[in-house]
Amino acid sequence: MKISETVTVNEQNHLTIDGKDAMNLIKKYGTPLYVYNVSLIRERARLFVDTFRKLGVKAQVAYASKAFSCIAMCQLAAEEKMSLDVVSGGELFTALRAGFPADRIHFHGNNKSESELRMAINAKIGCIVVDNFYEIECLKRLCGELDTQVSILLRVAPGVEAHTHEYVVTGQEDSKFGFDLFNGQAEEALMKTLDDTFFNVLGVHSHIGSQMFETEGFVLAAEKIFNQLLNWKKKFGYFPEVLNLGGGFGIRYTDEDRPLPVSDYVEVIVEKIKSLAYEARVDIPEIWIEPGRSIVGDAGMTLYKLGSQKTVPNTRQYLTVDGGMGDNIRTALYDAKYTGVLVNRVYDQNETTYAIAGKCCESGDMLIWDLPLPTVKEDDYLAVFSTGAYCYSMASNYNRLPRPAVVFVENGEDKLVVKRESYEDIILNDLQLNEI
Ligand SMILES: *Cc1c(COP(=O)(O)O)cnc(C)c1O
Repeated sequence: MKISETVTVNEQNHLTIDGKDAMNLIKKYGTPLYVYNVSLIRERARLFVDTFRKLGVKAQVAYASKAFSCIAMCQLAAEEKMSLDVVSGGELFTALRAGFPADRIHFHGNNKSESELRMAINAKIGCIVVDNFYEIECLKRLCGELDTQVSILLRVAPGVEAHTHEYVVTGQEDSKFGFDLFNGQAEEALMKTLDDTFFNVLGVHSHIGSQMFETEGFVLAAEKIFNQLLNWKKKFGYFPEVLNLGGGFGIRYTDEDRPLPVSDYVEVIVEKIKSLAYEARVDIPEIWIEPGRSIVGDAGMTLYKLGSQKTVPNTRQYLTVDGGMGDNIRTALYDAKYTGVLVNRVYDQNETTYAIAGKCCESGDMLIWDLPLPTVKEDDYLAVFSTGAYCYSMASNYNRLPRPAVVFVENGEDKLVVKRESYEDIILNDLQLNEI
């Protein structure tokens, strides 16, 4: 039985994930546990890729691996014909170890170190998304030293900033990322790279925000960028092959979130760029996008064992899980909203509203402030939904809690893809003060 697009329940009233009883996963792997519905990840990826194909434009759908990076996920992204965004040497290393095709890896970041850039150049990755003048100089030096050329996109700040429920347009964008599109910086960056033999300037990139529920932000950014590109075409005779509009496609965390189907975003973006190109009589550039959250977010959930409770009379009923901000810091960090159910009693009548707390030594270590559940008994387990993005990837060992395992489930088959950390792992890099 299906309660939503992502959640199903079996005859025992247990939550199931892509055909697998979640209680079996708990028995096999313990808690806390991150579990991914792999069929759903594939479905999300295919919708992006297929929509571009249907619309007949050249495109790359680059999975923003910072949302959830591990070797298995990079391999899944490769299987689904996605490209891959990395933002650090660590994410790049993971992708390369996964055997991800280097020519489809794009490297982002506002302070890439020389050794990270060297690693990227040596691996012959597809492109480096250049963020600032410091990086241009560093790349020039490295390309000279390594006697090579790099393909780049220039990251521009188009002065469109998207928020969850609204977007704002600022004249001069106050952001640490990219070259301002209108104050001369982006143009200067283009001049510095265009005639330099070390650089193959593929085009421009912008990423305007996250967890967006409308398409206006993308349309606005595309218009602003296109106008500037046409100016540059007149001035320098240069028109880019690639226009990358970033990620930020919203997902459902709770019923209050109403995301558009990802095909809608893609259609709007493609139609806009087609019409801009048609009006200006230029070739339609290749369109790249970079979904992270919308690929993995609602395909993942976290399973916890429920433990201690505390009643604050007339105020709140606290209920504690065996994890918390170590495996999901988003509530503490962004006041993120989640929902969940009892894994082992999904359809039992809700009777109590609980405040779901973590076990870390921080009052702010909360997962959900008000979750209606059946009255909780011993040996009840909680599933928190839509934890697939920015939870494992932001996980920490705060309080020296080992990070949970990650399990992939596909058509009833489960596979461990990241082992649970052990206490030995926790002290792996620790050294004795006095060597014995
Ligand atoms: C974070 C990020 C993304 C992905 O954002 P989502 O909200 O997860 O889709 C894409 N591109 C860039 C440059 C980013 O920094």
